[in-house]
Amino acid sequence: IDYIEHCNDLLSYKEFQKFGTKKASDRSKAMVEQLQHFGVITSKKVAEVMEIVDRACFVPDGTPPYVDSPMQIGYNVTISAPHMHAMCLQLLEENLKPGMRALDVGSGSGYLTACFALMVGPEGRAVGVEHIPELVNSSILNIRKSAAASFLEQGSLTVHVGGISLETQNSWENRTFISTVADGRLGWPEDAPYDAIHVGAAAKEIPQPLIDQLKPGGRLVIPVGNIFQDLQVVDKNLDGSVSIRSETSVRYVPLTSREAQLLGY
Ligand code: SAH
Repeated sequence: IDYIEHCNDLLSYKEFQKFGTKKASDRSKAMVEQLQHFGVITSKKVAEVMEIVDRACFVPDGTPPYVDSPMQIGYNVTISAPHMHAMCLQLLEENLKPGMRALDVGSGSGYLTACFALMVGPEGRAVGVEHIPELVNSSILNIRKSAAASFLEQGSLTVHVGGISLETQNSWENRTFISTVADGRLGWPEDAPYDAIHVGAAAKEIPQPLIDQLKPGGRLVIPVGNIFQDLQVVDKNLDGSVSIRSETSVRYVPLTSREAQLLGY
């Protein structure tokens, strides 16, 4: 099967800086050229990063990496289509400058978190939050095979099982329990505030903690809706007020509880 390409595990960030796009896999490059041809990718930086972060490192064996559609990655979810990754990277480009902080909620395969890490560089911070622990583990393995591996080693890129510890009072026995809630809707306060927040699953409404964790001047890109969804762009203005606009209609898996997502899986 000739569309399956081995993930390019030879390229380090140092080589990326030295060689630019020259060492990207030919197929990754062809995918980007196609997206440029159709006017989806207009940014040079986004083209570079999407060439160098090879999707072949982020899809399960036997899945065609460069086809422009979402692909199953297990647990009832998908890696988003390349054109959606491109669109979100471009919407966030000004908020992914070197040294900036980015949060990727519902990081799934880890692909976009890896792209964020390359864009913000070693002085920045790229944080992935995902509620399926198995996906967190596999995304870390994916990133290790990719051009973003050195960021993981050096600590500017991290992926977490989302959640905070909640103290719940059991009134019956009057005892206190600590339970962890894995939910990216709570964001990741430890590394807040962020210049850029991306959500990779459709929310019923915009979670307030994500707005709270944005820097003034920061931008949140989030699909909102149920069956009919809009990709919303939320800008936090310097005075702390927020402006919201809809970019386009989209179709994402829901941002939901772990139990609801795994029903029937
Ligand atoms: N950008 C990712 C998208 C993966 S699909 C990629 O391209 O690979 C959306 C992801 O959101 C899934 O991995 C799913 O498990 C996760 N998700 C859904 N609801 C969530 C929640 N409440 N908290 C954290 N992650 C969630």
